[in-house]
Amino acid sequence: MAVTRKPVVEVRRSQRRRRTVSAYRDGERVVVLIPDQFSRAEESEWVDRMLARLAAREGRLARSDAELLARARRLIGSYLPEYGSAAVPASVRWVTNQNGRWGSCTPADRTIRISHRIQDMPDWVIDYVLLHELTHLIVPSHNAEFWALVARYPRSERARGYLEGVAATAAIP
Ligand SMILES: [Zn+2]
Repeated sequence: MAVTRKPVVEVRRSQRRRRTVSAYRDGERVVVLIPDQFSRAEESEWVDRMLARLAAREGRLARSDAELLARARRLIGSYLPEYGSAAVPASVRWVTNQNGRWGSCTPADRTIRISHRIQDMPDWVIDYVLLHELTHLIVPSHNAEFWALVARYPRSERARGYLEGVAATAAIP
């Protein structure tokens, strides 16, 4: 479940704006630009509308394959830096047909698939599953070298425990 936090909103009024409203994220804040002539009621209505629009846009982005690739590059930079492009997959995508697996990797064509069932899990769990599959591009089997690389991610064990817990719960009839 995604945690919904109400962001800090900064409203900027502009005399040059006539009708257009725009919003963007600036760190933890959301800046909403409105025309100077807006009433307080219009301001609050538009702030709500722009926050909803921003959340929808970010929600789509968060679940996209493009975001997975960006996440992969970030993980490689942090945990597998010496492998560089050798750890970058040819493709990485969300799939709905992973029977009983959280992710899978085909080293021969360098493709990675991540189960949609982890989409709503915490970021640190998604990071673990993805890093696990990225590491298979370097070491295909689950040997000592593989686990040593995966252990570079500080929350590896915690994430494995989390996933085992979910699997065990799901198995209860
Ligand atoms: Zn594996």
